[in-house]
Amino acid sequence: HSTERYAVVTGANKGIGFETVRQLAASGVTVLLTARNEKRGTEAVASLHELGLSKVLYHQLDVQDPQSIQALAEYIQTQFGKLDILVNNAGASGVIVDEDGLRALNIDPASWLSGKATNIVQEVMKTTYDTAIECLSTNYYGVKNVTRALLPLLQRSTSGGRIVNVSSLRAELWRIPNEQIRKELGNLETLTEEKIDGFVEKFLHDLKNSELEVNGWSKMLPAYSVSKAMLNAYTRVIAKKYPEMCINCVHPGYVDTDINWHTGTMTPEEGAQGSVMLALLPEGGPSGCYFDRTQVAEF
Ligand code: NDP
Repeated sequence: HSTERYAVVTGANKGIGFETVRQLAASGVTVLLTARNEKRGTEAVASLHELGLSKVLYHQLDVQDPQSIQALAEYIQTQFGKLDILVNNAGASGVIVDEDGLRALNIDPASWLSGKATNIVQEVMKTTYDTAIECLSTNYYGVKNVTRALLPLLQRSTSGGRIVNVSSLRAELWRIPNEQIRKELGNLETLTEEKIDGFVEKFLHDLKNSELEVNGWSKMLPAYSVSKAMLNAYTRVIAKKYPEMCINCVHPGYVDTDINWHTGTMTPEEGAQGSVMLALLPEGGPSGCYFDRTQVAEF
């Protein structure tokens, strides 16, 4: 069993995560398809078993729930004794759609929300304090807590351990108007986890006080952009701390999934390619980098 490779993919019951599991399993990796909802997760696993991918297993994981994270870590410890690949894929958009706003634009909300959208209508994307909390708890704190719990198992991987954090081009630093935040996030010499947490707190404070604009946070999908920008920064900090692993983040492309009401133009199969490539990096591969699909890009 020592040559067997084990992977965890979060938020894998559908979309890019589901495809990531399929492609990893097809290349011979034993994959834990995790999902917060047991029915959605076991149905997803069953559909992969039907394709002959028998090395896919279900385990419950809600990345916002510390007990759920702990249970997953204990399961891996007792069943496999190590982990080779962690793909932090679960994500939340941080917005709700203002249906009245859609109607005002002569767009039928039912049809738009059921996946017949043709483009993101920026005016109707609303970020509230609650949706921002949901977004940061999933995309930033969720990734951190899952990573922290699984790191000791990843350190036992004979091939060094791989972490892939699914990010977004909306996190690219040039999109943050505030120069100080941009500079601090871009300076790996002085960046720390505590500093990044501080920026998240500052963002939530500014959102609560309606001071996002004056303090130079990005206007478009602000919570989502911030969550992924902080995720990228976190990726770099831990990559520096664990040089024996390959720890990277990736923009999957603009992919046709539920998160963007199916406005995306790429297939989930194409969207998973970056995650899969980074999960299967050979020893000595890049670490602490940001990829736009399969190509290294600027943070
Ligand atoms: P989907 O909406 O299809 O998938 C999102 C997944 O995340 C679902 O499985 C969802 O589970 C899961 N999830 C949400 N919250 C939690 C939680 N608390 N615990 C566990 N799972 C959770 O979207 P995508 O496949 O597109 O998204 C995958 C990743 O790709 C995300 O991180 C997203 O930000 C990123 N991304 C996507 C882009 C695109 O164009 N599609 C572009 C850039 C980045 P459930 O079904 O239970 O809600």
